Amino acid sequence: MSLEDKLSEVGRNLRSSIIRELLKFAASPEAISFGGGVPDPNTFPRHELAEIAKEVIEQDYSYTLQYNTTEGDDLLAQEMSKLLTRIYGIEGIQRDQMLFTTGSQQALDLMARIFLDKDSICFMEFPAYLGAVSAFRMSFPRFETVPVEDDGMDVDYLERRLKEIDAKGEICKVKFIYTVPNFHNPASVTMSLEKRKRLIEICNRYDILILEDDPYGMLRFSGEPKPSLYKLAGPDRVVLLNTFSKVLTPGLRIGVILGRSDIVRRATMAKQAMDLCCPSLTQRIAARYLNRYDIVEQIKPGIELYRSKKDTMIKALNQDFSVIEGAKWIDPEGGLFVWITLPQGFDTIGMFDVAKSKNVYYIPGEAFSIEKTPSTSMRLSFCLPPEEKIVEGIRRLRDVIVEYGKQ
Ligand code: PMP
Repeated sequence: MSLEDKLSEVGRNLRSSIIRELLKFAASPEAISFGGGVPDPNTFPRHELAEIAKEVIEQDYSYTLQYNTTEGDDLLAQEMSKLLTRIYGIEGIQRDQMLFTTGSQQALDLMARIFLDKDSICFMEFPAYLGAVSAFRMSFPRFETVPVEDDGMDVDYLERRLKEIDAKGEICKVKFIYTVPNFHNPASVTMSLEKRKRLIEICNRYDILILEDDPYGMLRFSGEPKPSLYKLAGPDRVVLLNTFSKVLTPGLRIGVILGRSDIVRRATMAKQAMDLCCPSLTQRIAARYLNRYDIVEQIKPGIELYRSKKDTMIKALNQDFSVIEGAKWIDPEGGLFVWITLPQGFDTIGMFDVAKSKNVYYIPGEAFSIEKTPSTSMRLSFCLPPEEKIVEGIRRLRDVIVEYGKQ
């Protein structure tokens, strides 16, 4: 049987993630990897979760080992509603405005399914979160990209593009603009309040939905939290995605969509077709955890750990990268990443072979582009390596850049 002949258009277009390919080599014990954006397992409250898991399986087995509704666990909804009110100041959340998903990744998939067709226009930031690009790509939309600056997306550029699209009579094809406003993955920047307001004003003018993806917002090291787009504009304009992956554990695979009830209803119907429901067990574990512990307090040591690792990385960059004229990086106020941009002439994917020879790994900027655009940038994630490895890894990376620069 020829598989190619049998595959659908989606099936034929599937590609292995460039990140996965590049990081295959990063698993050896001598390697230092700034690649994956996975949380430090030391931040997972494993004893608390183990105790709760035992309890809810033994005592609530008729619920936790059974199917659930597609909408998800009502107890988790109550707890989540309290948490969202607390972290975003959003009041009056109704049950039908919330849908639990298998991580935010499923929420991205659901948004693509209910909003995007082949000729839809989908606005992304550039660089973009690769997982969102992959999820949206399944619907074959036309991507438009808006450059990300040090204070968030270039809203003037967005406005100009929308004006051009409008002039061509195509504005009705623009379905949403996807943004990661806090501690962007991969660009590590945070959108200023002024830009948040401009973005909403522009989207109001052209009647475009905003997809606000905020997995990192609770991981703030410094500075004042900025109001979420959802808080500023409400459910008529914004769908907010959140997840427990970075603040509790990604292993539970619990994300949440908060949005207007008719949008949530559509997403619920799509989810029903996709997987019927999220596991009752993991939802109930999360619900009980939120009820018993104050998650905002519980994650404080984790935030301190990441802050310390981030400071170590920035200090090492300040010291070691001074020899690389024109290199720039963002000192993030939170999240898990540092985005570095090298001077013109560098190609961080071309440099990867030198990096491999020195056993240090990063994600080349090209991985975060939609059209595989060569890039002088790279994403370093500081969350996993211990601090002494961060120092050593930055030293190795400096040697990589110097050696590649001489080629
Ligand atoms: N959005 C962004 C911006 C992310 O960085 C991630 C995880 N890397 C996700 C969504 C998906 O997270 P999860 O499915 O684990 O909730």
